[in-house]
Amino acid sequence: MSADNPILIVGGGLGGLAAALALGRSGRRVRVLEEAPQFGAIGYGIQLGPNVFPMFERLGVSAPVLRASDLPPALVMLDALDGEEIARIPTGDSFRHRFKHPYIVIHRIDLHHVLLDACKTLANIELEASVSAVEIEDGGDQVRVRTKDGRSIAGAAVIGADGLGSCVRSMLLNEGPPRLIGYVAHRTIVPMERVPAGVLRDEVVLWGGPGYHIVHYPLRHGSVFNIVAVFRTSTCAEKGDVQGHREELERTYRDAHPAMKALLGLMDLERRWAISDRDPIRHWHKGRTVLLGDAAHPTLQSLAQGACMAIEDGVCLAEQIHAAREDFQAAFRQYESARVVRTARVQLDSRTLWEFYHAAGIARDVRRLTVADWTEEHMFNCLGWLYDGFPMGQTRRSEDSV
Ligand SMILES: Cc1cc2nc3c(=O)[nH]c(=O)nc-3n(C[C@H](O)[C@H](O)[C@H](O)COP(=O)(O)OP(=O)(O)OC[C@H]3O[C@@H](n4cnc5c(N)ncnc54)[C@H](O)[C@@H]3O)c2cc1C
Repeated sequence: MSADNPILIVGGGLGGLAAALALGRSGRRVRVLEEAPQFGAIGYGIQLGPNVFPMFERLGVSAPVLRASDLPPALVMLDALDGEEIARIPTGDSFRHRFKHPYIVIHRIDLHHVLLDACKTLANIELEASVSAVEIEDGGDQVRVRTKDGRSIAGAAVIGADGLGSCVRSMLLNEGPPRLIGYVAHRTIVPMERVPAGVLRDEVVLWGGPGYHIVHYPLRHGSVFNIVAVFRTSTCAEKGDVQGHREELERTYRDAHPAMKALLGLMDLERRWAISDRDPIRHWHKGRTVLLGDAAHPTLQSLAQGACMAIEDGVCLAEQIHAAREDFQAAFRQYESARVVRTARVQLDSRTLWEFYHAAGIARDVRRLTVADWTEEHMFNCLGWLYDGFPMGQTRRSEDSV
């Protein structure tokens, strides 16, 4: 089995493309199989913490990512009922000094294109759209991906980067669908001119309320504004229509601050996402198949780290594969040991933070009291485990370890 035998990556999201680029740069042949007719079709904003920049540096894409990004001056949490500021994490000079890299917001399509463009410069990366994986067959010395259109694609290993509803994961683990938590999200991007007066435009803002929140921030150098409205509803698993969604929003946010209501008036309510996650697990591989990103450890959005974790996974996995040469078992074990606890902490802390965002009644008073004496230094220290990044793990070549 030679390095010419491609590694098959199922899913061309941010995690899959990061893995493809890192493997491609190490000289490995890669085939990325993406079921959508186009790579990178979902177009909303995304926040990325400073921990993702060492990955961008390894991938050689920091400069184009930064060119397409906005750098907010702060992350601000506001109370959804009275509009009072609950917490403010400055992301200017002191943040960059502490974490060595910036906090950015970027249009997801722009980030996708940076990764795609870099992949396209490498002849050893094949990007194939409209290919839906339905089954994985592990023959011991090679693996095959069966596709919806009846093809069988052979490779040295399979990376399941196919997101929350991962088909690759369902081949490895006997379990049900992800855990619906009873919340939904609506996402919208509007021209900056339409943003109501009195709304903070430059910062990443989270309005936290009883059973609902709104997040907003600028994109594309302040020309557009990204808004995400998230709330609890008994209809989270149902398919509704715009009128029904509008009525539900009006009911849910009836006590919200007027600025939030003005923002809700701008929302496109055609599409909604049901929010879900899974419990952390210790093992993401079997034989020649391994998972990354949301397929391995789907998380709630409270820390805004799902994509960051997928990109960290992709780079780490590629480096381990490169170091272990054809010993995929050794590579996958090293990758898991570098990644499992960190991503599990993101999953579990995101659940805790979710409750904090949605505090109601007396819990809301406790929230205010809890943060009252938080200093910048304290907040930076609390975020250190996440934003300082992680050790890539041992990268001894497999023959060194026997
Ligand atoms: C409302 C919301 C806001 C978020 N905000 C942030 C944020 O600010 N910051 C952050 O870091 N994260 C954020 N996230 C999380 C982030 O979007 C995900 O964690 C991240 O996209 C995971 O990347 P991935 O590559 O693992 O999976 P995905 O991005 O889901 O990519 C999976 C890819 O696999 C493809 N695919 C699926 N099945 C198959 C198949 N059978 N065959 C072939 N291809 C297949 C899909 O079409 C898709 O392209 C947010 C999520 C939501 C819902």
